[in-house]
Amino acid sequence: MENNQLQLFSESGIYQLTSNAFFIDPVRILNRSYTRFRVSPSTYYSRFFDSSNSKQVPKASEDSRKRKRKQKKKPQSLNEREQIADRRHQEVKPLLLKAHKTLLEAPDLLKVLRNLRNDGCAVGECKELSEESSELSFMELGSVWQAPLYEIALNYHQDDKTFHNGGSTLVQSIEQRVTPVFNNLVANEGSCDIEAELFNHKFIIPKRSCFYMSDLRQIENLIPADSDCGFNLIVIDPPWENGSAHQKLRYPTLPNRYFLSLPVKQLCHTYGALVALWVTNREKLRGFVENDLFPKWGVKYAASFYWLKVKANGMMTGELDLFHHRPYECLLLGYCDGKETDSDNVTRLNPIPDNRVFVSIPGDYSRKTPLGELLLDYVPGSRPARCIELFAREMIPGWTSWGNEPLHFQDSRYFVTK
Ligand code: SAM
Repeated sequence: MENNQLQLFSESGIYQLTSNAFFIDPVRILNRSYTRFRVSPSTYYSRFFDSSNSKQVPKASEDSRKRKRKQKKKPQSLNEREQIADRRHQEVKPLLLKAHKTLLEAPDLLKVLRNLRNDGCAVGECKELSEESSELSFMELGSVWQAPLYEIALNYHQDDKTFHNGGSTLVQSIEQRVTPVFNNLVANEGSCDIEAELFNHKFIIPKRSCFYMSDLRQIENLIPADSDCGFNLIVIDPPWENGSAHQKLRYPTLPNRYFLSLPVKQLCHTYGALVALWVTNREKLRGFVENDLFPKWGVKYAASFYWLKVKANGMMTGELDLFHHRPYECLLLGYCDGKETDSDNVTRLNPIPDNRVFVSIPGDYSRKTPLGELLLDYVPGSRPARCIELFAREMIPGWTSWGNEPLHFQDSRYFVTK
């Protein structure tokens, strides 16, 4: 049984732990649709792989003993908001524990886990991330007066056959297209990934994908003139303000009220959209989403998915009961009606499962595990679904990515050639 599952996992990146819980390898999931390049596991998994903690395999019982020790540290008197947060946590905790226990009881999967960082790399071929200083700061570039003049060059590879004396030779040529990089929809409509150049940096643009790099003030430009060109799946990972002043953040945050003006309804397809919103575990934020944000966007809540974060040795990245720093995040799912949601043309949707748990090893800071592709079964409208990610830092084949740095993880340093 485990072997069968491992075989499926190596192709799909998805391993079913229980009826409603899955272990996933984001690298395999992302790589399913790249053609000429692949995401390098050693640069994706830049954290949680230090040798001191990745070799030992914890026993489920040890893990729960440790948890019990920590539980004692929980504050004795919780205020009203903390009590609501604690109730939510107590509800989801058994599901997370069950998923985690099943993972710890799958020795072959744990072996695979410990090697994910070197997956598919020949000895010495694994890439390490170079100094951070070599990263391009899109926010700085986009904020100067010259920004409208900056251009990105898209290099399309073409294989042409030339015929001579009864034989033929394959000639590779590159066709270059140059276009403004900011406040402009930049698209690779081709069926292969391409390389793009900007300020001596190379970026990988997946097939049939596009990005719009701008500040929130320009998001209106993405609203389609006709809702038939709107989106069936809208994934949103806002730069929420974080209560903790010590939290290292690599991007600017925005006050909650700014997100009320996101044009979710106008981005929605004629047949409606599934909206997936990443939220933090702060109760104040959950209340804001339920009482203000979803109603303002016209989104009706449908289900919650959870992302449980583990290290390479299978242990959770933190104590489950630690009040302000849980090792899991929540994706809230809801539907937004389009002009013709009730039309007979809309295919009957699979009911969306509630409380689904996805376990994975996190990549870079705040990088979300790619659940978008796993939501496609619950998306209204015709196929292929039209998908967009708001506040994106990466691109997905077939999707539109919007944010002030959607090329961040497309830097060629995160990729290897296939
Ligand atoms: N989902 C992303 C990932 O998995 O890597 C992380 C998104 S992060 C939580 C929020 C993003 O919003 C950051 O890239 C940040 O730079 C961007 N952002 C912050 N303020 C913005 C603004 N005013 N306009 C557009 N994007 C903004």
